Amino acid sequence: MSVIRVALPLPLRQHFDYLLSSGQQIQIGCRVRVPFGKRELIGVAWQLDPPDHYPIPQLKPVISVIDADPVLDENLRQLLTFAAEYYHHPLGEVLTAALPALLREGKDLADYQQYAWQLTTAGTSATAADFKRSARQLALWQALQQGPVAAAELYGSHPQTAIKQLEAKGLIEKDVLPLAPFSERGLKQPALQLTADQALAVTAINHAAGRFQSLLLEGVTGSGKTEVYLQAIAPLLDAGRQVLVIVPEIGLTPQTLSRFQSRFQAPVLCWHSNLTNTERLHCWQHTHAGSAAIVIGTRSALFLPFASLGLIIIDEEHDQSLKQQDGFRYHARDLAIKRAAIEQCPILLGSATPSLESLYNCQQQRFVHLSLHNRAAGQAMPRYQLVDLKQQVLQFGLASQTLQYIKQQLQQGMQVMLFLNRRGFAPALSCQECGWLTECHRCSAFTTYHKQSRQLVCHHCGAIKAVPRQCGQCGSARLAPVGQGTEQLEENLQQLFPDIAITRLDRDTTRRKGALASALDSINQSGPRLILGTQMLAKGHHFPFVTLVVIVDVDGALYSSDFRAPEQLGQLLTQVAGRAGRGSNPGTVLLQTHYPEHVLLQDIIHNGYASFARSALLERQHTRLPPYQHLALFRAEALQSAHCQQWLTELADLAKTLPGLELLGPLSCPMEKRAGKYRWQLQLYSNQRPLLHQALNTLLIALQSWPLSRQLKWQLDVDPIDLS
Ligand code: ADP
Ligand code: ZN
Ligand code: ZN
Repeated sequence: MSVIRVALPLPLRQHFDYLLSSGQQIQIGCRVRVPFGKRELIGVAWQLDPPDHYPIPQLKPVISVIDADPVLDENLRQLLTFAAEYYHHPLGEVLTAALPALLREGKDLADYQQYAWQLTTAGTSATAADFKRSARQLALWQALQQGPVAAAELYGSHPQTAIKQLEAKGLIEKDVLPLAPFSERGLKQPALQLTADQALAVTAINHAAGRFQSLLLEGVTGSGKTEVYLQAIAPLLDAGRQVLVIVPEIGLTPQTLSRFQSRFQAPVLCWHSNLTNTERLHCWQHTHAGSAAIVIGTRSALFLPFASLGLIIIDEEHDQSLKQQDGFRYHARDLAIKRAAIEQCPILLGSATPSLESLYNCQQQRFVHLSLHNRAAGQAMPRYQLVDLKQQVLQFGLASQTLQYIKQQLQQGMQVMLFLNRRGFAPALSCQECGWLTECHRCSAFTTYHKQSRQLVCHHCGAIKAVPRQCGQCGSARLAPVGQGTEQLEENLQQLFPDIAITRLDRDTTRRKGALASALDSINQSGPRLILGTQMLAKGHHFPFVTLVVIVDVDGALYSSDFRAPEQLGQLLTQVAGRAGRGSNPGTVLLQTHYPEHVLLQDIIHNGYASFARSALLERQHTRLPPYQHLALFRAEALQSAHCQQWLTELADLAKTLPGLELLGPLSCPMEKRAGKYRWQLQLYSNQRPLLHQALNTLLIALQSWPLSRQLKWQLDVDPIDLS
C-alpha cells in the first residue's frame, strides 16, 4: 500500500491524502477518482508517499485511476505549484484554471478521439467530370485531394449535405485522426521584406532560441510587430517546435488570427472562452500530441500541455485584461514568463505602449529591449492637436473646430473615428426640477440610460430597471439624460451627417455573434464613414482608411486617485491615436479637453508614449510605488461596512508586527459599495518580495481562525491592477 497526495478542485488550502492499493498503478500527474465526504471528486495525483502524510488508518482508498499517462507533466505541475504559492491561492482552484472542463469531469480521453475525412480508393480515381452537376461536391472532393482533413475543420467549410452525398456514393470515408506531431509544410504566403528594425528584432529573437530569455518588442503603432512575430516563428516551425501566442481578447481582433492562418501551412488553432467543451478538449489534445503548431489564445492558453514549446509571444502585453480579475487572480504575462523559464524557451512581449513593469525590467537588464521606431510602410505617425473646450459652444459635445475637421475628411472620402469610452445613451437620467440622479441602489454608482432598450443599467453589478416615469425624489415627470454615451453620439452624428454611413463598436452593438466581424468588414471598405465606439476601438485593429481620430472627452481620467491611471490613459490615447493614418494618407488626432495645459497631455503629444512612460516610471520611483515596491491587496466585502473595517484592522495590526512591510489602509474602496456589499481594502507594500510573501503566509494562516473571516467575503490580490 502506498499513500498518494491528490490535488482536488476545492477552495481549501490543505492537503488530501488517499490510499493506493497494491494493484493500482499510477504516475504522478494522472487523474484519480476519490471519495470526498458523500461525494466523489476528480483530482490529480500530485505526490507519491509524501513524508508528512496523514496516519494510514484515517485514509480512504482511491476509487479509480483514470489515466495511464499524466494529463499534467512535470513542467506544468511545477508551473501550477509556483502559481499557487505566488498568488497564495488554493492549488485545487489553480488546477481548475489549468484543465479543460471535460478533464475535470473525469471524462476518458479515449472517448474524445477526433475524426478526419479522406478519399476512398474510388474517390481517388474519380475525376472532376464526375461532379459536373454539383459545385459543392466538387469543392469538397478537391479539398480532400491533399490528404485527410479533420472533421471539425471540414464541417466549418463545407455543407453537411455535400459530405453525406459523397459518402453515400462511396467516394469519401471517415477515419480516426491520428494525433502526431505536425510537420512543417512551408509558407502559404510569402514573407514581407523586413525593415531594418524588424530584421534586427527577428535576429535577436532567433538568437534566443533554445534557452530562457525575455524580450520586449516596443514598436510604435503600425510598425509591423505581427510581421516580426511571423518571421520569428518560421524557423521554429521548421525545427518542429510549437509556438504559443497569447492575446488579450481574441474575439476583438479576428484579423490577428487570420494573419497567422494565412501565412503558415502548419495547423494554427485558437483557444478562447467561446469554444465548446469538446472544442477545448480537442485543442488540448492537439497541443499535447504536438499536432498543433501554433496556438493563439487568451490568458488560460498558458496552461496548455505543449509537447515541444519553442516560443511564447504575448501580444499587447500592457493590456489589463491579461490579468484575471476574480477568483485565481493571475497575470498571464507574468505566469507565461515563468512557463518560459521552466520550458527553457524565449518569451517575446510586444506592445506599442509597454507596461511600466516591462520597461522597468528592461532597465534592470532582465529583458532584452527591441524597438521598432517607425511605421512599417513608411507612413507618418499621426499628428496630435488639442481642442480647448473652455468657453466654447459645443454641438452634441463636439467643438466647432472638431466638426470642421470631420466634415473636411468626410468630403475627401476618408473615414473618421470618434472615441468615447462610455456606452449607453447617457451616464444617468436627472430630474430637471430638483437635480435627482438615477443611482443603482446596490452600488455607489449612477445607472446608465440605454435609450433603445428603454432601460437603466448598472454597469458595475448588471442590475437592470425600467426607465422611471417620475423623479424618485420630487415626483416631477421632467427627467432628462445627462452626459453623453456612444448610443447618443451615434444618434447625434446621424443628425449632423445624414448621408454618411456610421458604424458603432461597443459591447451593446457587438453582442450578437458575427456582428463585430461584419462591422470590421464594412470599415475595411473604402468610402466616407463615421466609426465610433469605446475602448474596443483601441485594440490592435488595422483601419486603413481612417485619417482622423477624435477623442471626444479625455478629461475623466486626468484626475484619478489610482496610481496606474496616468499609465493607462497614456496607453489608451496612444493606442486609439494609432488607428489613424495607417493607410496611404497621414492621420490627425484631435483631443477635446478642458485642460489643454495638463502635463500628462502635453508630454504624450509632444514627446510620445516612450518618453512619457519613462517619466511616469521615474515618478513611481519617487513615490515608491510598483514596480519599485511589491504590492498585495486584501479586500473585504460585507453587508455591514463596520465588519470590513474591523476585519482589515485586525489584519493590519498583525501585519504591523511583521518585518519589511508598509501598510496603506484599511480604507474604504474608491467604489465603496458594489452589488449591495460595502467594500474596504488594505494595501501591503514591501521592497523585498520574499518578505511580502512570508507576511502573506502568516496573515493567511492567522485569519483562518477569526470568526469574522467566515462572515464576510475577502480576497487577496497579489500585484493588483484594479484598485477600485
Ligand atoms: P502593429 O501590430 O505594429 O501595429 P501591424 O503588424 O498591424 O503593426 O502592421 C501594420 C501594417 O504594416 C500591416 O498592414 C502590415 O502588413 C504592414 N507591414 C508590416 N511589416 C511590413 C514590411 N516589412 N513591409 C511592408 N509592410 C509591412
Ligand atoms: Zn426631482
Ligand atoms: Zn449596481
